[in-house]
Amino acid sequence: MVEDTIAAVATALGEGSIAVVRVSGPEAVDTVAGVFRSKTDLRSAASHTVHYGWIRDPENEQVLDEVLVTVMRAPRSFTAEDVVEVSTHGGMVAVKSVLGLLLRRGIRMAEPGEFTKRAFLNGRIDLAQAEAVIDLIRSKSERAFQLARKQAEGSVSKRIVPIRSSLIELLAHVEVNIDYPEHDVAEVTAGVIRDTCQSALKQIEELLRTADEGKILREGIVTAIVGRPNAGKSSLLNALARENKAIVTDIPGTTRDIVEETISLGGIPLRLLDTAGIRETSDVVERIGVERSRTALNEADLILLVINRNEPLHEDERELLRQLKDRSTIVVVNKIDLPAMLDLEEVKKDYANDRIVFLSAKEGIGLDELEKAVSQIFFSGSVEAADLTYVSNARHIALLHRAKSSLEDAVRAADEGIPVDLTQIDIASAWESLGEILGDAAGESLLDEIFSKFCLGK
Ligand code: GDP
Ligand code: ZN
Repeated sequence: MVEDTIAAVATALGEGSIAVVRVSGPEAVDTVAGVFRSKTDLRSAASHTVHYGWIRDPENEQVLDEVLVTVMRAPRSFTAEDVVEVSTHGGMVAVKSVLGLLLRRGIRMAEPGEFTKRAFLNGRIDLAQAEAVIDLIRSKSERAFQLARKQAEGSVSKRIVPIRSSLIELLAHVEVNIDYPEHDVAEVTAGVIRDTCQSALKQIEELLRTADEGKILREGIVTAIVGRPNAGKSSLLNALARENKAIVTDIPGTTRDIVEETISLGGIPLRLLDTAGIRETSDVVERIGVERSRTALNEADLILLVINRNEPLHEDERELLRQLKDRSTIVVVNKIDLPAMLDLEEVKKDYANDRIVFLSAKEGIGLDELEKAVSQIFFSGSVEAADLTYVSNARHIALLHRAKSSLEDAVRAADEGIPVDLTQIDIASAWESLGEILGDAAGESLLDEIFSKFCLGK
């Protein structure tokens, strides 16, 4: 497949001490060589070598920047095409002028995700891996980043491929029985079909079980902090944010989301809702019943109900405790550095001990207890990174469900003694659904949709 040559800025614009222009395609080396002044001629440079020199506009001899140029030859590159990366000085000016020069010399500006799309189309990665690259770019916490990285390496694909092979083997076997009944191949019995399908089902169910946790790691736990004025909500938010200065994973190309704040609590990303409201100094808006907090409450996966231990329980708090007891609520008993005035028994009536956390937002005490309580709710105890094979992509989850239901049909048909050639259809459709996860026979529109989620330069 002959493609044209594309280029884009591969690093986040604006910041950083270097910026990279990535060029991919058959003309990549020649075109960059034509504007690169150096001791070496790029055209004869070996793959995976770095060269020092200057980018110069041949039209007017103007030197644009001092650069390092990396050459990666097909197929040993991200796109499996010839790739040249030009590292310029940081900031918009240098990188834009270098990109502009290349575009004037016949290279096309890449569409968002086009590099990754080429990697997929050239067979370097499968679709699940390509989608993981999107997640990688967007990941909001270290843990989510690790998860996406594993998937980009193919962790999900590795689990899907053997399931598919077992199904295709079964199908082939059935086929032989139907087409060549006279042959001496053992007949596929209902029992064989049931066993194979059930074993595939079991593996799919295991993958689906990871989906919830994977989603949380990827998207973060939507969290609302509620409580009476002065309970310490703002202080808790600040304490959490302070502990997590480095949580915005600084991956090139990331567009930072500033509407909500995502903080990482021991590796678990929490998406704090309505942080503007909480940070507001006027506590009038924080009153229970205020529209905004109520919306936040409804949307939340996790509610942190902050109560001041230094005061007796207020009627509003009694009401909140009652309202929220069936939700994923953690009661944060705050200000433990001050004398206790709160009758805890009232709280304990509706909340188990592992849902009550004692802390001092002011002194930063007790945050690790809060972390434990959160993992208890969302990860049945631990968030150990041992097995990071999580399915976290909504499209994959839907396809796994579809495959699962086809296989359930096949098992049922086998049990009911329905002829083997009819069961075949269910097995084939399970095989196809699993294939869609990997991008087998993916339609053009699906591909466009997936790759359009990318940032430029990926
Ligand atoms: P909010 O109205 O719920 O947001 O409460 P703030 O976070 O604004 O806190 C109200 C007051 O309580 C402030 O003066 C805080 O400094 C104080 N405060 C918050 N948490 C603690 C704590 O753990 N210990 C003590 N001693 N004071 C606290
Ligand atoms: Zn406040």
